[in-house]
Amino acid sequence: ENKTSSNFIKNIIIDDLKTGKHKEIITRFPPEPNGYLHIGHAKSICLNFGLADEFNGKTNLRFDDTNPLKEDTEYVESIKEDVRWLGFEWDGLFFASDYFEEMYNRAILLIKKGKAYVCDLSAEEIREYRGTLTEPGKESPYRNRSVEENLDLFERMKNGEFKDGEKVLRAKIDMSSPNLNMRDPVLYRIAHAKHHNTGDKWCIYPMYDFAHPIEDAIEGITHSICTLEFEDHRPLYDWVIKECEMECQPQQIEFARLDLTNTVMSKRKLKQLVDQKYVDGWDDPRMPTISGLRRRGFTPESIRNFAREIGVAKNNSTVDYQMLEHFIREDLKLKALRTMAILRPLKVVITNYPEDKVEMLNAENNPENPEMGTRQISFSREIYIEQEDFMENPPKKYFRLFPGNEVRLKHAYFIKCNEVIKDENGNVIEIHCTYDPETKSGTGFTGRKVKGTLHWVDAKNAVPAEFRLYEPLILDKDQEEEKSFLDCINPNSLEILQGFIEPNMKSAKPQEKFQFFRHGYFNVDPKYSTEEKLVFNRIVSLKSSFKM
Ligand code: ATP
Ligand code: MG
Ligand code: MG
Repeated sequence: ENKTSSNFIKNIIIDDLKTGKHKEIITRFPPEPNGYLHIGHAKSICLNFGLADEFNGKTNLRFDDTNPLKEDTEYVESIKEDVRWLGFEWDGLFFASDYFEEMYNRAILLIKKGKAYVCDLSAEEIREYRGTLTEPGKESPYRNRSVEENLDLFERMKNGEFKDGEKVLRAKIDMSSPNLNMRDPVLYRIAHAKHHNTGDKWCIYPMYDFAHPIEDAIEGITHSICTLEFEDHRPLYDWVIKECEMECQPQQIEFARLDLTNTVMSKRKLKQLVDQKYVDGWDDPRMPTISGLRRRGFTPESIRNFAREIGVAKNNSTVDYQMLEHFIREDLKLKALRTMAILRPLKVVITNYPEDKVEMLNAENNPENPEMGTRQISFSREIYIEQEDFMENPPKKYFRLFPGNEVRLKHAYFIKCNEVIKDENGNVIEIHCTYDPETKSGTGFTGRKVKGTLHWVDAKNAVPAEFRLYEPLILDKDQEEEKSFLDCINPNSLEILQGFIEPNMKSAKPQEKFQFFRHGYFNVDPKYSTEEKLVFNRIVSLKSSFKM
């Protein structure tokens, strides 16, 4: 079940094990702790941990914390929680910042070999000098400093003698390389900032392209899997490994990142949604973060199955969000208790039912999974049905309740609508019906047929509850017009309703999941539910047009 699907990365690994290039594979998941993980990261987690599991290898969780300005221990903790929740356990837990000393020494090695120099150009000048794809770069006037001068300046950078941006350390490679990444890339920058792990120890920090290969090599990573944007960085990755004389030579392999319809998936954008209060935190149930999906009600199994199904490819494409929904429906189908909840209540009085009587009816907990057994639900003279299940003047083919029509109440009786009660403004506030005792569910009544079956809750014992229904946070159709993603936010992504649940569910716990008849799958919200009132997040509605 937990096998990854066949893909080109898996084939490389099979080959490397067969030829003896590696005896054991070691992968890593290397998030930068500058935000919460999202569903795209889940794809990478399932791939890296999944491959190692399958081939008895190891996977490290490594925090790529080389940018003190954006990183925070809150993110470190959330990332650990999310990886574990997805069902994976890491072998080594590392911080890139633990390797700062070694990286510094490797940089000195490069300087000594004449492969790196301290440059005084500003960031903007460096960009200008770099040239473009059609135009070669220009060499920095500082490129030919002596080794001694470079060693001295780099040490003084480290000792804090210069201000942010005043100097950088650059690799000395080739300013006319067709690959822009090879035109003397920056290896170190100055940042006088407190680091979440190393505090004030350092004021120079390595750039990603220098740090990452060294991190991989130190840990003995065999296959360094990253997203396609890094394909053009691979020559630099290999250059760093070689020129820094690292013993281990990890292989960088790129795969297509996950993109989902109606979803923004960069931590920078997600952070903006949080900071500007478009959502109520990183775990808002509308967020594509792991913590948001968890709070919405997605299960680890559903996400792992989704990741397996989308597979691993070499070209970018966008996956339909409905595919993710497909997997949570599949996962909950046989697991979730099927109960009745009324989201928009309309009172029905059954005029021929005795005033004080309450009877208990037998209800199956999940007709597709008989092992889940049955429960007792109460029925009495007043019940609630959905407002949309009654129409005074229905169109053709409306089989629910309307004056003179008879319907079945799920697990109970047939009722017939006789009278409509309205307030002074003409709004329907109550329906009067009669029931037929002969039609009781489970008695095998076959006397006549009705076309509609309605769900309901007993008004006497019903428990008030809040329901939160969600629509996509981002509207794709608006996005096509080249607007900022903030202009594509759906103003109607959350609808809050006050209704009722069966009394059986009063003691439901946070994160417990249910299927409400005709409404879909719901999760007990862990943040807003109280002893007095449960709050339910709709995970997904029941039906979709999506076909696998
Ligand atoms: P973002 O742009 O969302 O901040 P990132 O790539 O900067 O993403 P990292 O924390 O550096 O985030 O990512 C950790 C790992 O997760 C990397 O190996 C990266 O390739 C992978 N990853 C990130 N986003 C996706 C995605 N959408 N699909 C697949 N893998 C992803
Ligand atoms: Mg990154
Ligand atoms: Mg990033």
